[in-house]
Amino acid sequence: MYRNLSILGSTGSIGTQALDVVDKLGLSVAAIAAYSNIDLLEQQVRKYKPALAAVFDEDKARELRDNIKDTSTAVAGGMEGLLEAATFSGADLVLNSVVGMVGLRPTLAAVSAKKDIALANKETLVAGGRLVTDAVHKNGVKLLPVDSEHSAIFQCLEGRPSNNALKKLILTASGGPFFGKTREELEDVTVEQALNHPNWSMGAKITIDSATMMNKGLEIIEAARLFDVDGDRIDVVVHRESIIHSLVEYDDNSVVAQLGVPDMRIPIQFAITYPERYESPVAELSLAQIGKLSFFEPDCDTFVCLNACKRALAMGGVATAIANGANEEANSLFRRGRIAFLEIGELVTGALDSITNFEAESVDDVLRADSLARQYVRDCVKGASE
Ligand code: MG
Repeated sequence: MYRNLSILGSTGSIGTQALDVVDKLGLSVAAIAAYSNIDLLEQQVRKYKPALAAVFDEDKARELRDNIKDTSTAVAGGMEGLLEAATFSGADLVLNSVVGMVGLRPTLAAVSAKKDIALANKETLVAGGRLVTDAVHKNGVKLLPVDSEHSAIFQCLEGRPSNNALKKLILTASGGPFFGKTREELEDVTVEQALNHPNWSMGAKITIDSATMMNKGLEIIEAARLFDVDGDRIDVVVHRESIIHSLVEYDDNSVVAQLGVPDMRIPIQFAITYPERYESPVAELSLAQIGKLSFFEPDCDTFVCLNACKRALAMGGVATAIANGANEEANSLFRRGRIAFLEIGELVTGALDSITNFEAESVDDVLRADSLARQYVRDCVKGASE
């Protein structure tokens, strides 16, 4: 079990749930980092007494430095601060739960510093692709999945057969708040409706990704990278109750699944205690109480992001970074009321159609693909409103 954590994104949904696990297991926190929520960060500093607190927003970093002068916690700001927290010498595990592409450089920095990583930041694996997985292999560090589906697959693969008999991965999807809706019905949905997720309590960005099913598309890419499996051997099944978190199928058609109540503290804790298991703050699963589990084919005609992500994965190069960057921009524009819900999928698809794909030799190439995609989306939206 890891005992000294660095938590990037400590004030977010995953970060605060990770601190519940820290409380339950009596672990210590060496470093924490947040985007800008310094009020909550200050409370965390006073409770966990980390040696370092990083704030991405430089002004907020200065403010926090002033507010916690009476403590022994050092404060660092900006991307440099995030990188310092990612490589902090006192931490034996870095939990990266920042939202979006901004997590890429901290992940790579932690890997270079030979830190094992609990990864909740799927965007960096989607966008960074082989740059990340190659660095992980080269430095001999562990990349432990925190995403519930990938934690499930990771658990199902424990004790896998030695003869490479893995046939396919099956990701479950809740279907989000708009399961069963037609494109016509989704034309005018509001941000509030899209944020109303049936099963999981998550941050705003990922909840919108769940409503468009972009989240599941990103997870197909994430699974392909984490488990080195081609996209055509990764299936998605809609499972409304979110009790089965994902499955693997072997060559003998035996299917192994991982189940539990939908609560992120289980996969967070497993990444921290791996390969051991301990009591958790999460409730027991009662299958009899749930009664029935249901399954459906995903509707790829309505939720076009699923196919866009599969296509990006097959295209190779920086296509997955383009799909991710376009989505981050479109997701944010939707949340700010600038575009309609269905436009998110159209913009992701359009970015893949319009931007010339290329191979990524470095992080800068990935960042360039990301900014080309964001620019494409901003240009489309500007054009549409004129
Ligand atoms: Mg997930």
